[in-house]
Amino acid sequence: MKAVVYKGKNKVAVEEVPDPKIEGPTDALIKVTTAAICGSDLHMYEDRSSASPGCVFGHENQGVVEEVGEGVTSIKKGDRVVLPFNIACGFCFNCTRGWTSACLTMNKKVAGAAYGYADMGPYRGGQAEYLRVPYADFNALKLPGKPGDEFEDDFVLLADIFPTAWHAAELANVKSGDPVAIFGAGPVGLLAAYSSLIKGAAEVYVVDKVPERLKKAQEIGAIPIDFTKGDPVKQIKEHRQSEKNLQQSFRPGEAEKLSGVMCAVDAVGFQAHAAEGGKEDPMQTVKWASQILNPTGSLMMIGVYFPADPGGQDEAQKKGLYEFPLGELWSKGISMAQGQAPVKKYNVYLRDLILAGKAKPSFIVSQRLPLAKAPEAYENFDKRGSGTGQDWTKVLLKPELDRSSKAA
Ligand code: NAD
Ligand code: ZN
Repeated sequence: MKAVVYKGKNKVAVEEVPDPKIEGPTDALIKVTTAAICGSDLHMYEDRSSASPGCVFGHENQGVVEEVGEGVTSIKKGDRVVLPFNIACGFCFNCTRGWTSACLTMNKKVAGAAYGYADMGPYRGGQAEYLRVPYADFNALKLPGKPGDEFEDDFVLLADIFPTAWHAAELANVKSGDPVAIFGAGPVGLLAAYSSLIKGAAEVYVVDKVPERLKKAQEIGAIPIDFTKGDPVKQIKEHRQSEKNLQQSFRPGEAEKLSGVMCAVDAVGFQAHAAEGGKEDPMQTVKWASQILNPTGSLMMIGVYFPADPGGQDEAQKKGLYEFPLGELWSKGISMAQGQAPVKKYNVYLRDLILAGKAKPSFIVSQRLPLAKAPEAYENFDKRGSGTGQDWTKVLLKPELDRSSKAA
């Protein structure tokens, strides 16, 4: 079969690889209809992870069951499914508590396993024609309808970023009436803003510098903040100070101390750009978040930080050690959370929000391309569209388009 293979820094190729097979009675084989490229793939693409050349990428996968092992009882050939990026057993200590992101049995190296990802076990990715799914009864989420229907591009976002973004809003303690700041307007940041709005946040600020992405934030009802136009902390405070009714409702002493937000999400991670100068500052968004959070607020760092970064700017950063504004966070009593999202905890409910017409996460999708176009998709998505004059926010790869162009 054809698959997207990592070839080394800034290079992927679409190559023939051996077909996946059923390896155990609880496996299923999926014919992939849509596989998305994730911001997480870019860390590997840019050689900022331990991924080795030869790795088949792709952890956001959806398709149709082609074959099942003899022990699979709840899905059958022809069923439409989406797979959480986490591969989980369902029976270990962490899985039974809902933390499928830290499954203890599927990866010898660390807690947690995933398709096509550095350190996440021996599993190939699904940016390919077919995918092997272990423990298919537990991992596959069954979907209604037919591939290519009106929900195809919403459902595929259930593999990772919609549940991931929901998890970020959940652990940032977003509740109705809260003011929220999201750093990063990539797919995860935009959907964290969207999730916060669905949860009833009063106002949601989204900070980034890519105009096309900020425009999307505005379109869903968030307030876009371009950090190249000035300190985002100051911009958010000024915006809140301009809200007369809010200001009039404060008691003496409250206005300054509640000038920020109660909930913040870092949807950028260790490759954050510094405020100025175009270089990286892995702690930039965490610093801004610590400044804009009100006392007793919450910070969720959903953006990735690895234990090792070959491209780190000094020896500490290469070991995943960062200068962290702990003093400010501690003295404000900020609750903090981080880590990989346990997709299965949320994907059923989010599927049903989509089916009920209450969520349409595919507003972030910018391209739908055949697998063969993966090299140019990676190149443009990696630049966040910069210089192309086009929006490259979320790219979906569709092996079906390769098949139909071959047939034509
Ligand atoms: P992305 O790379 O498309 O988006 C990141 C955005 O951050 C870009 O638009 C960029 O312009 C912006 N940015 C850079 N520096 C910034 C700064 N200082 N302030 C504000 N914005 C800044 O990626 P994505 O797909 O949205 O993913 C975002 C992060 O979430 C990545 O680190 C990804 O690996 C991670 N992620 C985590 C999980 C999880 O389970 N925890 C799952 C999926 C993705
Ligand atoms: Zn992803």
